[in-house]
Amino acid sequence: MKEKLLELLACPSCGGDILLAYASKYEEKEIIEAVLSCKKCSREYRVVRGVPRFADLSRIEQDKAETAENFGWQWTHFTQEDEKYNEQFLGWLQPVKSEFFADKIVLEGGCGKGRHTSLAANWGAKAVVGIDLSAAVETAFAATRDLENVHIVQADIYKLPFKRAFDYAFSIGVLHHTPDPKKSFISLASKVKKGGAISAWIYGAENNEWITNYVSPMREKFTSRLSQPTLYQLSKLPTFGVFLATKLIYKPLNKGAKPLADKLFYNDYLYYISRFGWREQHNIVFDHLVAPTAFYISRTEFEDWWKEIDAKDVEIIWHNQNSWCGFGEINK
Ligand SMILES: [Zn+2]
Repeated sequence: MKEKLLELLACPSCGGDILLAYASKYEEKEIIEAVLSCKKCSREYRVVRGVPRFADLSRIEQDKAETAENFGWQWTHFTQEDEKYNEQFLGWLQPVKSEFFADKIVLEGGCGKGRHTSLAANWGAKAVVGIDLSAAVETAFAATRDLENVHIVQADIYKLPFKRAFDYAFSIGVLHHTPDPKKSFISLASKVKKGGAISAWIYGAENNEWITNYVSPMREKFTSRLSQPTLYQLSKLPTFGVFLATKLIYKPLNKGAKPLADKLFYNDYLYYISRFGWREQHNIVFDHLVAPTAFYISRTEFEDWWKEIDAKDVEIIWHNQNSWCGFGEINK
C-alpha cells in the first residue's frame, strides 16, 4: 500500500478518515504490514502483504465469497499476457478512449489480477484504485506494485472504503457476478464526484438465451461446484470445440464469405474470439462455467440503472451482439 492512498480512503462503516496507526514492515515505498484505523469510530483495518483489507471474508455471504474464491483461483492460474488486451479493454469501455484516463483519479470495481488496472495506469491516470473481494488482489498487487499511480484494495463493492473522490469509475465484467448487479453499480457510482463519469460492461440478456437456458443451469448445479483444478481440466473439452469452430469455420467464413458467416450461430462473438489463442479461449470458457452467480441483463434493465443514478449523456452500446457497454456522466 502506498501512503498516498490514505487521502482517498474512508471508513466503510462510518465514513470517517483513515489513518495509518502502525506499520511494522515496509518495502521501499510500499507499506507491507500495518494497521489502519478510523479517526471517527476507531475501527481497525489491516494491511496484509501490501494490500489493505476492508473485506472480512468470513462475514461475507456465501455466494459472494464463493464467486470471489473461484475467480481468485482463476486469476492466479491464468496469468498469460496478450497483446490484444488493449484493444479488448477499449472495446468494453466504448465510447471511452485511452486519452480519457489522463490525469484522472480512477476507481475500478473488480480488478481481478490487475490487467485493466495496469492499462489504465499506463494511459496516464493520476491514480487508479483497483478493488476486488477475492484473493486475486494478491496477484494484482504483485503485478502493479511498481506502478506509482496504482493502488490495490481488498473490499466489498457494497461497502467501498472510499471518499467520493473519483473522476471516473469503471467495472468490466464484474457487476453481473455480484448478487445484486444494480446495487453494485449504484454503490460504485456513489464514489464518483459530480461531473465525473462511469463505465460498465455487463453480459446482455439478448442473444444469450442459449446460455441462460442451457449453460447456466449446468454452471449453477454442476461446474461452479467442482474444484477449480478439476474444472480447469474439464473445461478443456468444450474449449476444444470452441477453438476448432472459431479457427476452422468462423474465422475463414467471416474473411471469405461474410453473407454465409452472418447466418452462423452467435457469429459476432465467436468471430471476435477467433483471434484469441488457446489459453485465452480456455480462460473465456472457464469463466463462463466457474461463477456461482451470473446475471444476463436486458437493455431495458440496464437503462434503468442509469436512470437510477440520474446520469447525464448516457450511451449504451451493444457489444458483439451479446453484451452491453454503458457510459454516462454523474450529474448530482
Ligand atoms: Zn469508522
